[in-house]
Amino acid sequence: MSFHDRYSRQVLFSGIGPAGQSKLAEARVAIVGCGATGTCVSSLLARGGAGHLLIIDRDYVEPSNLQRQTLFDEADAVESLPKAVAAARKIAAFNSEVQVKAEVADLTPENVASLLSDSHLILDATDNFETRYLINDFAVRNGKPWIYAAAVGAYAVTMNIIPGETACLACVFPAAPQGTTETCDTAGILNSAVNLVGSIQATEALKFLTGAREKLRRTLLSFDVWNNDHAEIGAAHPRPGCQTCGQREFVHLAGQGRPQITLCGRNSVQIHERHRPVDFAEMSGRLQPHGTVKHNDFVLKFWRDPYELTLFPDGRAIIKGTTDTAVARSLYARFVGN
Ligand SMILES: [Zn+2]
Repeated sequence: MSFHDRYSRQVLFSGIGPAGQSKLAEARVAIVGCGATGTCVSSLLARGGAGHLLIIDRDYVEPSNLQRQTLFDEADAVESLPKAVAAARKIAAFNSEVQVKAEVADLTPENVASLLSDSHLILDATDNFETRYLINDFAVRNGKPWIYAAAVGAYAVTMNIIPGETACLACVFPAAPQGTTETCDTAGILNSAVNLVGSIQATEALKFLTGAREKLRRTLLSFDVWNNDHAEIGAAHPRPGCQTCGQREFVHLAGQGRPQITLCGRNSVQIHERHRPVDFAEMSGRLQPHGTVKHNDFVLKFWRDPYELTLFPDGRAIIKGTTDTAVARSLYARFVGN
């Protein structure tokens, strides 16, 4: 069977046309994170003919992913396939013309340059601020555009960052939210909210990659799809004095923004967080549905097979049951905050 008219309906769209479609075939896009946003955006871009995709993710497919992560199926969860690998296989099944590179890795200050330097555009599909600030530092420093996207509960938010033109992430959020934050693992998530933000992100990516830069949105756009709210905040210009894009201090790239993680004991990892005051009573209630939890005034313990998390009032944590710092970081991001 011939697939020569695969993109015919997209080429017919006047904003793209044959010239836009050719540009798309040359595009190199990095997708950081392959959960709901990552599967949505990589599926749409691959179906649309973006030529080269790099998918970076550190996790494995689990049954609880299937509600919203649209590239995965039950067999992937049974096999516990790495998400990046499962996504690349699915894409190959519906568009073998797209080159997909699966990178099973945690994006860190050490590997960010080698992983992201070749891409024309970086798409944020992560679940934590630490990685977003790292992407922002790298992108601003190298003048590379990226698109922020996040969702939790019924809420979704996105912003295009074009270094040298628009505000950067640190212009809008100079610091990560303090204290414990709601995450998909504690507040839940609607598949429609996260696929909405993935669709908007994919559209903005199409504009950029086909050369329709004047069409790019220059606001922070958010929706609450349950309460019928949406908001837009202007982000067309950098904030004067921004530490990242104004003063060009790239603390996250230097590794300073990261809570230090060390191995401790035979089978544990310690997260040296110091600035995340934890309310044990509130945290206990939040963790209750996800495992066994107990606390006193000094320490909170949370058991979720095969891990045991010990949390201290300042946010420091010891995670027993692994020596893999990426697994520990991921558990912490899921259950404590990011
Ligand atoms: Zn800035």
